[in-house]
Amino acid sequence: MNVQEQANSSILSLQPYQPGKPVEELERELGISNAVKLASNENPWGCSPNVSKALKTAIDDVSSYPDANAFYLKQILSQNLKVNQNQITIGNGSNDVLDLLARIFLTSGDEAIYSQYAFLVYPLIIQAVDAQAKVAPAKDFGHDLDAMLSLITEKTKIIFIANPNNPTGTWLNKQEIESFLCKVPSHIIVVLDEAYFEYVDEVDYPNGLDYLSKYTNVVVTRTFSKIYGLAALRVGYAIASESITDLMNRVRQPFNVNNLALTAAQASLDDEQFVTQCKQSNKQALVEFSNFCNQHELFYIESVANFISVNFGDNTNDMYQKLLSKGYIVRPIANYQLKDYLRITMGTETQMKGLQKAILESLR
Ligand SMILES: *Cc1c(COP(=O)(O)O)cnc(C)c1O
Repeated sequence: MNVQEQANSSILSLQPYQPGKPVEELERELGISNAVKLASNENPWGCSPNVSKALKTAIDDVSSYPDANAFYLKQILSQNLKVNQNQITIGNGSNDVLDLLARIFLTSGDEAIYSQYAFLVYPLIIQAVDAQAKVAPAKDFGHDLDAMLSLITEKTKIIFIANPNNPTGTWLNKQEIESFLCKVPSHIIVVLDEAYFEYVDEVDYPNGLDYLSKYTNVVVTRTFSKIYGLAALRVGYAIASESITDLMNRVRQPFNVNNLALTAAQASLDDEQFVTQCKQSNKQALVEFSNFCNQHELFYIESVANFISVNFGDNTNDMYQKLLSKGYIVRPIANYQLKDYLRITMGTETQMKGLQKAILESLR
């Protein structure tokens, strides 16, 4: 008897999430020690110096369970975001809170909607609970909200929207989000995944929190993995109505976020200057790298996040391999149906200069 046959059928057809190639792996393969990873939208400037200070104290107490209610982190977040503490759910990365939402609202026969080219975690968590994914075709690489609306049926339970979207870096403005929200039936959960919220400068860019009081079906998710530079520690959160938060709290594992992660997240919120600097440096990298692409006639998808997806046509895999051989890890996104594109995370000035040189050498 095959044990696999015992698994839920929806799990058997799941493909595991493919992360970016780890730096250590490439360094082992090439026998080098200075590989540059621009593949997972991590913060190239690291994290606030406050974090290592706070962690040095916290490291002495790893024998106690963490605060299951994350009181202090929620307290700071609730002040900063002007929401109640009982509207916040802390997760082991924001992927964790996305997963909680799928487990709360979706079961066999239910449907969830997301956009073509949207974040790969959505199909994963939808299929894991045996629900049906409905994928709306993209418009100019971004979300086509009308196409998403037209997929709503009586079985629809959740709609996932990444704003900005990964891996395209496209974004939706206030007017688009507002006219969408007022057309969605109020029993359907709308998840506004704002993992790159802090990077966006556009005046028209909506803050999902502004919709919480009018639309009790909205859930906003954010993370410490990107601009706060804490990807290794896994901390993210959801902000929602008190009743949705109450449900999340029932499904959530009691100690889902560890004490070092909570401590680091708190410390990082004390350093606004770090976030501002990263935002500015990222902006500069986006502008310079876009100019580089224009100059060398490389098509790219206009992005407001901390990465740019570039079209290398038939040479995409070749470019990926050549960049690897020069010590640069970028991200192939064929699994997002973008096989002619490589997603490149914005790095430091030095990293970007090196990458541009490596791209030019590989184009020849
Ligand atoms: C990176 C990312 C996340 C967050 O990941 P965590 O590390 O689990 O917080 C969520 N959504 C999108 C669209 C992302 O790109």
